[in-house]
Amino acid sequence: MAESNGIDPNAVPSGPGCLECDASGGWWFHLRRCAQCGHIGCCDASPAQHATAHARASGHPLIRSFEPGESWFYDYRDEQMYDGPQLAPPEYHPLDQPVPGPAGRVPPDWQDHLH
Ligand SMILES: [Zn+2]
Ligand SMILES: [Zn+2]
Repeated sequence: MAESNGIDPNAVPSGPGCLECDASGGWWFHLRRCAQCGHIGCCDASPAQHATAHARASGHPLIRSFEPGESWFYDYRDEQMYDGPQLAPPEYHPLDQPVPGPAGRVPPDWQDHLH
């Protein structure tokens, strides 16, 4: 991973859930955080894949897991996983937020909608 390229440790998360899913009433499986601007988006297994969409649209190359207990980074440029620096808190979504989430918006057949 290029030195600090694509990482701003001071960028705070955009919110507790996927920014676009929260705007559109969607739901997600796991959450990813843009390491550069703090955008929270849903993972590639989620129906809408907003984390990858954000990386493509913004050119921000690195995401970090926004799941409790996970601290890995992923670099879209070489498609590799890395360790990275600590980022501005919170480092994961609220513990009372279910997976998949958020509460009330996940359909009963959610597993059929995963990628
Ligand atoms: Zn989303
Ligand atoms: Zn970003």
